Amino acid sequence: MDNCIFCKIIAGVIPSATIYENEEFKVILDRFPANEGHVLIMPKEHCDNLFGIEEEKAGRLFALAVKVAKVMKETLGFENMNLVQNNGPVAGQTVNHLHVHLIPRYEGDEVKVTWPQMDLTDEQIDAVKIKLAENL
Ligand code: 5GP
Ligand code: ZN
Repeated sequence: MDNCIFCKIIAGVIPSATIYENEEFKVILDRFPANEGHVLIMPKEHCDNLFGIEEEKAGRLFALAVKVAKVMKETLGFENMNLVQNNGPVAGQTVNHLHVHLIPRYEGDEVKVTWPQMDLTDEQIDAVKIKLAENL
């Protein structure tokens, strides 16, 4: 993808702090991190978001995220972490190349990964449950 920042990083056209890579995935430090040690994991083959990746490959991506997270925890010495993955602009995706964020969390930091909670009725919950469950 010609105008994709992450494709350019993967191709080596734009430099990145790469901490790991294999045939399928690249793992880099976020250039504008939420916290020190903020990591991004991305497939090397361009894919816009979660809806475009094959499920088996997504499984390997998640397995790699767990491996990297454990190394980060041991090496950087934190106890808490957010795994964040945004799909589409409304959901906060700013780079249109699928990626997973691993964000170390420290007591008192300013990182926000929370949302206001809705107070739905049991009937409203049930209506959504039925729609989804019958298609899975
Ligand atoms: P998104 O908002 O799409 O979920 O996350 C995109 C992430 O990419 C942001 O956290 C942003 O800081 C990071 N980012 C944007 N441009 C660059 C870059 O050129 N290099 C690196 N390493 N990270 C970038
Ligand atoms: Zn791309």
